[in-house]
Amino acid sequence: MKARAFIALGSNLDDPLVRIDAAFRALAKLPATRLSKRSPSYRNRAVGPGPQPDFINAVAELDTGLGPYALLRAVRDIETAQGRERRAKRWAPRVIDLDILLYDDRQMRDSRLTLPHPEMHRRRFVLQPLSDIAPELTIPGLGPLQDLLQQAPAQELIEVASTEAALESG
Ligand code: AMP
Repeated sequence: MKARAFIALGSNLDDPLVRIDAAFRALAKLPATRLSKRSPSYRNRAVGPGPQPDFINAVAELDTGLGPYALLRAVRDIETAQGRERRAKRWAPRVIDLDILLYDDRQMRDSRLTLPHPEMHRRRFVLQPLSDIAPELTIPGLGPLQDLLQQAPAQELIEVASTEAALESG
């Protein structure tokens, strides 16, 4: 039986749109996995101390035969392959960050994995692209996605064309 999982993608270094496209492609190539939906990408201000480049964020929907820990390992491997510095401190600029938002209706918390992702309901840059591809979702333990989106802190998000879209139209 396949699971429906959602992955948040974020990047604010080294040509983030290209990084996000590369991460989508890598997700599509995971074993026993299909990239079933790809959200638009959004530009938003980086959270954290000091000036940082804007972030680009997007969400992927996967149909996957990988279990939650295997999926976590797989997204870590994609981050490593794309050159993310694992020692970088929290809030540091990052080449690519991939988080598991949801894995079916699974609710769990241990040293490796928390599901649903513990910060997702506070982040408009996650909720908006998630809502673009799965507006009907109810987040286990948190409620309907549309309610969470209404309650999330205001944040300016600008939809951007992906490089793929740009290539297709150009
Ligand atoms: P970060 O540096 O913010 O990407 O956090 C990475 C760490 O968070 C990893 O070591 C994971 O084991 C842990 N983690 C816990 N829950 C999740 C989740 N839902 N998705 C991704 N990483 C998670």
